Amino acid sequence: MVSYKELGLVNTRAMFAAAVKGGYAIPAFNFNTMEQMQAIVQAAVETKSPVIMQVSKGARNYANATILRYMAQGAVEYAKELGCAHPEIVLHLDHGDSFELCKDCIDMGFSSVMIDGSALPYEENIALTKKVVEYAHKYDVTVEAELGVLAGVEDEVASEVSHYTKPEEVIDFATRTGCDSLAISIGTSHGAYKFKPEQCTRDPKTGKLVPPPLAFDVLHEIEKKLPGFPIVLHGSSSVPQDEVDTINAFGGKLPDAVGIPEEQLREASKSAVCKINIDSDSRLAMTAAVRKYLAENPSHFDPRQYLKPARDNMKKMYIHKIVDVLGSNDKLLQK
Ligand SMILES: [Zn+2]
Repeated sequence: MVSYKELGLVNTRAMFAAAVKGGYAIPAFNFNTMEQMQAIVQAAVETKSPVIMQVSKGARNYANATILRYMAQGAVEYAKELGCAHPEIVLHLDHGDSFELCKDCIDMGFSSVMIDGSALPYEENIALTKKVVEYAHKYDVTVEAELGVLAGVEDEVASEVSHYTKPEEVIDFATRTGCDSLAISIGTSHGAYKFKPEQCTRDPKTGKLVPPPLAFDVLHEIEKKLPGFPIVLHGSSSVPQDEVDTINAFGGKLPDAVGIPEEQLREASKSAVCKINIDSDSRLAMTAAVRKYLAENPSHFDPRQYLKPARDNMKKMYIHKIVDVLGSNDKLLQK
C-alpha cells in the first residue's frame, strides 16, 4: 500500500471547492508518456495552475502501473524543481470499470479515481459507486462517478448514442453513493470524431462544420438540484483545426474531425463544472508535430529530435487551455 500523500499528490476536494466558488475549471489531461507528463507539468508550473493527470485503464496497461506511480511522484518533484513550492497535482484514474481496478489504483498511490457505472442499470451503478466510495474515503481518496452516457470512443469505453443525464436523478444518486464529483452527459463526446457531419451544420462563411450546442439547460437544472456540487465534463477536446490540417498536410487522413467549441467550454467552466477532460487535443498536438518534423527532416531518426517539438506543441496547447479556456491559472491554493 502506497498512499498518494507520500508521493506528494493531493486529492480533488479542496481544488474543486475553490473552482466551483471561483467560476473556473481544473484541467484533467490524460497522459501515457514521459513527454506528455513533462509538458503537463511545465504548463501547470508556468501558469501556476492546479492540474489533474489522469490515466485510463488502457494507459495503465500501456505504461505499467508501477512505472506510472513513479512518474506521478516524478511529476511532483519535477514541478518543485521548476520552481513551484507547493504543486497541486492529482493522479486520477479515468473510467475505472470495476471495484478491483479502483482499489488497485488507490493502493498504488492514486489520489482520485473514477468509477464509471454509467452503462449499468441505475441501482447497480449506485451499488458499485457506493462500494468504491467506501473504500476510497478510508484513504482520503476522492471519487468521481457518472450518470448519463456519452457517445464516442475512448480506449475501452465506447457508445453509439448519448443519453443526457436526468436532472431528477442526481440528488438521489449523489446522496446515496457519497461520491465527490459527478460526470454528466450534456452533449460532449469521446474521441476526435465527436459528431457525424449530418449532426452538424456548416458555417456558410468558413465552410467548417459546427457541432450541435451543449445542453446548458440540462446543466443548469443539475446545478439547481445540487448547488455547489462539483460537476465533470468528459469528452471535451476541441479538436483544433490547425492541428488536423497539419496532420493531413503531412500524410495523415483525418476527415471532418469536429470537437467542442472552446467558447462553450469557457461558458461551462464558469458554472459548477469544475473538471474538464482533455485527451484527443494532446494526441493531435503530438501527432501533428511528429508528422511535420519527420516529413521535413526525412534523414533524422533520433526520437529526441521529433519528440521535442511534439512536447513543445503539447505544452503550448495545455497553456492555452488553462489560460484561455478553463481559467485555472494563478489558482494554486498555497502560493
Ligand atoms: Zn471520459
